[in-house]
Amino acid sequence: MFEVLMSEEQKKLRDEVRDLVKSVPRQMILDMDADRITFPTEFLQEAGRRNLLGLRFPRQWGGRGLTWNEELIALEEIGPLGICFSCQYSLVSIVGETIKVYGTDEQKEKYLKPTLAGTRFCAEALTEPRGGSDFFGATSTARRDGDYYILNGQKRFVVGAEGADYFAVYAKTAPDAAPHESMSLLLVDRGEGVSVKHVYGLMGARGNGTGRLLFKDVRVPAENLVGEEHQATKIFWQMMIPERLASGAVSAWASLALVARYANRRKAFGQTIRNYQGVNFKIADCITKLDAVTAFAHTVAEIVEKELGPAGYRRRLVSEVKKFSTQTQWEVLNDCMQILGGIGYTNALPIERELRGSRLCTIWTGTTEIQNTIIQHEYFKEVLSKGVEGRDIAADVPLTEEELSEEIIYE
Ligand SMILES: Cc1cc2nc3c(=O)[nH]c(=O)nc-3n(C[C@H](O)[C@H](O)[C@H](O)COP(=O)(O)OP(=O)(O)OC[C@H]3O[C@@H](n4cnc5c(N)ncnc54)[C@H](O)[C@@H]3O)c2cc1C
Repeated sequence: MFEVLMSEEQKKLRDEVRDLVKSVPRQMILDMDADRITFPTEFLQEAGRRNLLGLRFPRQWGGRGLTWNEELIALEEIGPLGICFSCQYSLVSIVGETIKVYGTDEQKEKYLKPTLAGTRFCAEALTEPRGGSDFFGATSTARRDGDYYILNGQKRFVVGAEGADYFAVYAKTAPDAAPHESMSLLLVDRGEGVSVKHVYGLMGARGNGTGRLLFKDVRVPAENLVGEEHQATKIFWQMMIPERLASGAVSAWASLALVARYANRRKAFGQTIRNYQGVNFKIADCITKLDAVTAFAHTVAEIVEKELGPAGYRRRLVSEVKKFSTQTQWEVLNDCMQILGGIGYTNALPIERELRGSRLCTIWTGTTEIQNTIIQHEYFKEVLSKGVEGRDIAADVPLTEEELSEEIIYE
């Protein structure tokens, strides 16, 4: 968020999160990137201890009753630690959202509260080996058997497959029904029948034990059903708000500042490289882009928080934030590396790690292409549902109606 727009309380919160971020040992960051750590337990515990997880959740369940803007402020501070940390921070908010909105009080007590306290760790299991984009084509099943569901199937790329205590799992409870009326959401404890079949070697965003989970005849208590049976579509869409809006937090500022300091000192041809327009114009473009993302993300955060406008309109904006922010930060980090020259490509500076992590962001939580399908779909729906608003510019041309009818041909 632009600092000049922050209230005193927001600045205090930002400083609290800054303290948390500074408390993370350098070795932990290195160990996560080297996959020597497979789950950032201490980070989540410490964030929970400081009451910094799930800021926008009600106090009753351990949050602070704040808003989306504060969650983004926190993420903007956490981002420079690396995408693996901000991902874990956001998972609390993503899985927590489903329980907050659709869960029972018992589920809130048993799962939400300890998750926000940093004593019980969650993960989300949506993607299947057969595909992530086609979410409603899932094949995992949960068959009702008395007081239990019997869960079978596989989920892939699950962050926390190795470290989480429980998983939010979407499965077909009505496999023969229409896709949007076939799924349910279950909270599945790690236990009998739940196994990690593969842990992925990742380009970046390491240290989270991202793996493929196998569910084999897992007996899930029926009380772990979130919301109504077969009605997970609306839960999915609710979940996609934190899933995607969290990407709006700009974390690349720290990298850009590092690069600006470097450019201010590094010399080539007898001058600091900062003096070359090939360098400083790149920095200017990066600043502009990051400011634009920040302004857009916080505006949408407010719209989402206040539930302004129709749901489809908000969905479009959230997808735009996700697309715009992740693409922009990837571009900015690329420019950062270019400005550093060869040393930027080495591990003498953290930009290569940031760049590797950033590459994931246009892929997960719905690829850029999937965001585009949503954006265009919602826009067409919106624009075609109403007539021309404001001036009808189609008529502002030097052709007669008759000429137009001969020139504007649709089929
Ligand atoms: C490191 C990592 C961590 C992840 N963490 C999690 C997690 O914790 N939990 C979880 O459930 N998932 C997780 N994911 C999964 C992630 O969300 C999916 O990878 C992503 O949604 C894409 O699904 P897919 O990989 O199956 O690609 P596919 O769905 O096979 O898509 C392949 C390509 O086709 C394109 N495409 C597909 N359909 C369309 C269409 N209709 N129009 C245009 N283009 C299309 C896609 O954009 C993509 O470029 C993670 C992934 C990674 C890599």
